[in-house]
Amino acid sequence: MDRTRPFLKGLSLLAAGFCLAGAAVPEDSADQAALELEAAAEWDEFLESVGHRLALDNVRLCSRRVWRTGIVVHDLHRYAAGSRAAAIRAFGVGLRPSILALAPEGSAAQAGLRPGDILLSADGAAFAESRIGRAGTGRGTTAALDTLDAAFADGAAVLEVERGGTRLRLPVRAEQGCLSRFQLQTSTETNAGADGLWVRIPTAFARTVRSTDEFAALVAHEFAHNVLGHRGRSQISQLFNAGTVRAQEIAADRLSVWLLDGASYDPRGAIAFWQRFGPSQGTILAGPTHPGWRRRVAILEAEIAEMRRLKADDPEAISPVLALRSTETSAPRPPARRR
Ligand SMILES: [Zn+2]
Repeated sequence: MDRTRPFLKGLSLLAAGFCLAGAAVPEDSADQAALELEAAAEWDEFLESVGHRLALDNVRLCSRRVWRTGIVVHDLHRYAAGSRAAAIRAFGVGLRPSILALAPEGSAAQAGLRPGDILLSADGAAFAESRIGRAGTGRGTTAALDTLDAAFADGAAVLEVERGGTRLRLPVRAEQGCLSRFQLQTSTETNAGADGLWVRIPTAFARTVRSTDEFAALVAHEFAHNVLGHRGRSQISQLFNAGTVRAQEIAADRLSVWLLDGASYDPRGAIAFWQRFGPSQGTILAGPTHPGWRRRVAILEAEIAEMRRLKADDPEAISPVLALRSTETSAPRPPARRR
């Protein structure tokens, strides 16, 4: 598995920044919007690449598993109404699900799938066209990922795609990894999230990292919540359950160290991130639910030392935090509550 390419690509993205600094500014601001979406798609690829690696290399730690291929899907409804014209110019995206990005080391890329391919069917099951919904809900994207997961339930599938007006049938073998879906969100928030299935990283938060290890640390913290079976919580319910949420935050930080090490990222990337990002945030991120950045650095330092000690005795040692895994983890998710 070639891991150099995404790493180098990640570094070049970090160097280039998110705003195309240094690129010629097009006269037409509509073209600028399309270029920014294309730049964001490179971050989608970077996120999928990091998430794919974390999910595959830590599969022995996960009770919920899925066959992974490294495909990032989108359709027109992933974009807010004001961005759809730019999305069409940038990607030619329509109502049918298509490939936005691929983890370069994932099996779909290796099998010849390419960004821009329109997904027609998987093992004969047709992908549904996205229906008009609330802007940016990604409802069609979720349906397409469900279709992919069903087709790959036996580890392999034949994907039928349309590329440049031609239909292609490509057999793909998947690899088993932890269950989690990774999504970059166009947002100015600096609050990433996990809800037991999705890991969502806002673009503004991604832009704050300075190395691949720092980015991996952000992703690994959210991914750890999913591995531990933590559910997403609304801001209000977080305040009512502050003690539980705080314990979950500490558990996710501690497990993230092991997940990073297991996927050959430097777990000290998390420390580098908090030491730089923490002071700039004042006390915004701390409070009853989240420990302050100094406390988080201390927790991470202690966990790295403990992991090194346990792995020196037994290279196959697993994180003691996994014993805290929610017993709900393997239970099916209940239907969303209706208001
Ligand atoms: Zn968290």
